[in-house]
Amino acid sequence: MNEKAYFRPTIATIDLQAIQQNVSNLKKYLKTDAEIIAVVKANAYGHGDVQVSEAAFRAGATMLAVATPEEALHIRTAIKEVPLLILGAVPQDFIPFASQNNITLTVFSAQWIVQASRDYGHLDSKVKVHMKIDSGMGRIGVREEAELIALQKVIVQSPIFELDGIFTHFATADEETSEYYEIQKSKFIQLVSSLDEKPRLVHAANTAASLVKDRVEFDAVRFGISMYGLSPSEFVETQLPFELNPALTLESELVHVKKIHKGEHVGYGAKFEAATDETWVGTLPIGYADGLLRGLEGQEVLVQGERVKIIGRICMDQTMVQLPREMAVGEKVVLIGKQNNNCIPMQEWADRLQTIVYEISCMLSSRITRVYKD
Ligand SMILES: *Cc1c(COP(=O)(O)O)cnc(C)c1O
Repeated sequence: MNEKAYFRPTIATIDLQAIQQNVSNLKKYLKTDAEIIAVVKANAYGHGDVQVSEAAFRAGATMLAVATPEEALHIRTAIKEVPLLILGAVPQDFIPFASQNNITLTVFSAQWIVQASRDYGHLDSKVKVHMKIDSGMGRIGVREEAELIALQKVIVQSPIFELDGIFTHFATADEETSEYYEIQKSKFIQLVSSLDEKPRLVHAANTAASLVKDRVEFDAVRFGISMYGLSPSEFVETQLPFELNPALTLESELVHVKKIHKGEHVGYGAKFEAATDETWVGTLPIGYADGLLRGLEGQEVLVQGERVKIIGRICMDQTMVQLPREMAVGEKVVLIGKQNNNCIPMQEWADRLQTIVYEISCMLSSRITRVYKD
């Protein structure tokens, strides 16, 4: 545990051992000696970018991937030397920063390369780039063979860019049917083979493709959601080739406990009404500003290993639960994760909010202190 740098007892504990275990399990499972690119965008899906990156490297990852220039620079201030790829489009005025900080960019337009070479051709160190192919995701990327060949040509001729990789991204790898996935894969293979020289690193698989499809490893896989011990989808959950270790536990504690009587109310709108004279209510210092969205009203939490319900409306900073009996102030409460022999998986929040675990882990706000366990 790090030194005490927080006061409110609402914390997300991140188990770095779990992250290392997930990475090394994937490494053992891969058919080839494909590299593992640890996807740590959005503050490592809310888990903490620098700490997760270091854990992933200890377990054998060889490259990091983020979504934005800001995320790349944030990691680079703490971790030098490690290859770091930005997966999204970047504006050209970031190029000097990429050059100085050894940050690899994703590119998909010859025109962009030509313009950037003109404006930044004088820079001292070259900027590595990966060409992005849109094989069916419809987001960013080159779609045609001629376009790809033209792009490669201007990169090779450019005074500041250096071709390091080529990749694509699957839209349906987490689904049971593989038809669309196969179409994307063939398109990618066909486009890559149209180049006279293959870049160093060819990669396509995200978590789902690497765990449940035919693994399409090429030279590297991009490991995101399951590095954190979470499944990309409920279908993938039923097909996992090895057990995942969820890294995040969201905990708080009772800061107030009281008995209320039949007919008394709790929370905004006085929505909850006590049905008996022996209604015990506990208050937790966590609310929707932390990511415990109002839509989670009625969700259960764990106290003394038992499931208890959130009652009344969730406030910005506080939330009430109904306790089965009197309990002490200071009693530990688990909102996501294990307590004794019981568990509330993050998926439960996702189901209640009709979304995916990706969104849940990203929405736990920066107000929640992250505590790292190694
Ligand atoms: C986010 C992202 C990933 C990681 O996806 P997971 O499903 O979390 O493994 C991989 N590649 C790209 C291009 C991404 O944007």
